[in-house]
Amino acid sequence: MLRPTQIDIPTLVRVKEGAFDRLGIYLDRGGHRQVVVLVSQGLPASLPERMSQSLSKHGIEAMAIHEVTDNSLEAAVQLFAKLPSRVSAIVGIGGGKALDIAKYVGFLARLPYYSVPTSLSNDGFCSPQSSLTVEGRRKSVAAVLPFGVVIDTDVCLAAPRILTLSGVGDLVSKFTAVRDWKLAFAHTGELVDDFAALLSDGSIHSFLAHPVIDLDGMRLLATSLMFNGIAMEICGSSRPASGSEHLISHALDAIAAHPRLHGLQVGVASYIISILQDSNTATIAGLFDATGFWDVVAEEPFHKAEWLEAVRRAPTIKEGFFTVLSLRDVLPEVERIIDHDPRLAKCFG
Ligand SMILES: [Zn+2]
Repeated sequence: MLRPTQIDIPTLVRVKEGAFDRLGIYLDRGGHRQVVVLVSQGLPASLPERMSQSLSKHGIEAMAIHEVTDNSLEAAVQLFAKLPSRVSAIVGIGGGKALDIAKYVGFLARLPYYSVPTSLSNDGFCSPQSSLTVEGRRKSVAAVLPFGVVIDTDVCLAAPRILTLSGVGDLVSKFTAVRDWKLAFAHTGELVDDFAALLSDGSIHSFLAHPVIDLDGMRLLATSLMFNGIAMEICGSSRPASGSEHLISHALDAIAAHPRLHGLQVGVASYIISILQDSNTATIAGLFDATGFWDVVAEEPFHKAEWLEAVRRAPTIKEGFFTVLSLRDVLPEVERIIDHDPRLAKCFG
């Protein structure tokens, strides 16, 4: 059934150089005096220090600063239970785990959450779900979009290049995800939310116009990934951002001896899926050529046997989720693609 759409979108969005050191100003403007900060493990020491300086300069007390090492639902619930009563906002700084946990703690506490990614390795910094482990298994758990998104392009540019390229890999999956969604409509009648699909598909093009890892490229990548998160919120599902390529990556996380970064797995899977879908392959290949994506994947090649097993398992991961993998047995095609595609040759050992 179609219904009118009403969503909450981030109220504060800053994507620019120097935004990190202005965090205190942004929180001050929101009227916050006491906040809890969750930071990723292994961040350059200068970042938590700069954050503390920015907060204290504006009279904001970080009542607790937690270093997040565990992204389990149980850990998030424990943090929620221990929240000091005067806290008025949750701040997440860093990459995956800290942002996922902070988002979920903010959701449980019904407190505004400020997302401060220090790298752009996937679209999780502004999505309505948290990627958490539940009893040891990775799950996407419903949460809410952040109240604030603060992205310092200079800080993200200084992050390891492999993280940015992982973000590029996650970005191209929107092509294949939207294609799978339309395929699902054709075969099962699952309705496509036109605006969400348009936003998701369109969001890639801003980065495609300047596929360079520099300050401007970081701004475009950040914006593109952010729009994907908002597309998910609009339609109330992950359909615009996640299709068969994500199923393959989830399967790899479960079976690979050494799973690699989400966006690297998703990016290669998107390329393969685009060939099966006969759509957008040249665009994805061109973007990966331009950014050096293939080279970073080649540094630690994937194992073909693990990928074939992941492709075999992928259609069973999400019940009732129709994708190109539901159409036919694609295994022989995927094996042929891996064996013969010149770009993939160096990605598989
Ligand atoms: Zn993703």
